[in-house]
Amino acid sequence: MADVEIRPAAYDNGLKPTIYRMLTNGGVAAAARGRVLIKPNLLLAAKPHQAITTHPLVVRAVARFVRDHGGTPIIADSPAVGSMARIHRVGGYREALQDLDVPFQAFEHEKTMDIGPPFGKVPLAETALEADAVINLAKLKTHSQMTLTLGVKNTFGCVVGLKKTQWHMRAGIDKAMFARLVVQIHQAIRPVYTLIDGILGLEGHGPGKAGHPVPVGVLIGSTSALAADHAVCDLVGFPPSQLPTLAAADVLSLPHHPTLVNGNGRAPAAFQLPESGVTHFGPEWLQPLMRRHLIRRPKADPEKCRLCGECWQFCPANAIRCQDDRLEFDYNACIRCYCCIEVCPYGAMVSAETLPGRLLRRIVPV
Ligand code: SF4
Ligand code: SF4
Repeated sequence: MADVEIRPAAYDNGLKPTIYRMLTNGGVAAAARGRVLIKPNLLLAAKPHQAITTHPLVVRAVARFVRDHGGTPIIADSPAVGSMARIHRVGGYREALQDLDVPFQAFEHEKTMDIGPPFGKVPLAETALEADAVINLAKLKTHSQMTLTLGVKNTFGCVVGLKKTQWHMRAGIDKAMFARLVVQIHQAIRPVYTLIDGILGLEGHGPGKAGHPVPVGVLIGSTSALAADHAVCDLVGFPPSQLPTLAAADVLSLPHHPTLVNGNGRAPAAFQLPESGVTHFGPEWLQPLMRRHLIRRPKADPEKCRLCGECWQFCPANAIRCQDDRLEFDYNACIRCYCCIEVCPYGAMVSAETLPGRLLRRIVPV
């Protein structure tokens, strides 16, 4: 268990002192020695006001803190779409970091680590495993599959490149199993501090461009990402026990209740979570049928879709193809990981409830 700080903040001159105070309170001054990996959420090339990536001024303040305390910062992630060079330019990191001379790079090399049963050895970013300390800079966003993507989920980015899609395929059919994988990877990465950028959050069909930026006005920080995530659930009015990663933490007997929440952050009156609808219903042998007919399906808006190909190239189940200038989905093959929503650069992909799913939800509370 750990304390959580929730501090009102804005992307202005007050940001740096707020972050310095939070990192100092979290003991990061002593931990930020040697090579320090700063792991933001760099999902894809998006402007800061789109609230998809950790704001460049937050990344800058943390990099300066590390350097001021004798550490050597390295900023790295494994983006789902596009190059780090483009993210650096479009995302505002080039301007924000120009006087700091900090490496801004994609994870490349892997090292295998045993994250425990049932997954065993998993290849993870060598930079993350060999860093003297990892600082986890997450974004407060909704996530079509996991409801919210916060501190714990951010470290799943330490799975390098397309290996992410392979793990989605291996564990993603079962949301609880995928959440357990995410938690066990997080435990292997063990950040010394997690800071969640909730100044401008993302609601609705996150975590990509189909979501809507919403001012929340807070930074959330803790030495425990699990405790920080729990506090965010309370903040946005979502039961922590229903967040798949916290439910997985319960299965693994990992505590996540904050011991103390300092601060006075407030969420907007109605933070719009993604509609999850039916996700799992009935016995295991019925699951393929249930998935086909009851669980929300990915769907492309033909008005917005530019047939760019990101979704079908990323889909771990090869369930999307382009036919006669429109997208076709193989809903038998689709594992409902919603990666296609995450990676679509035009916000064209959403999840839609099926008619049987809607009817079932009215009859049975699922
Ligand atoms: S849905 Fe999005 S990612 Fe897929 S082809 Fe259309 S624009 Fe590209
Ligand atoms: S179609 Fe979308 S939701 Fe289905 S498996 Fe592919 S990426 Fe995942």
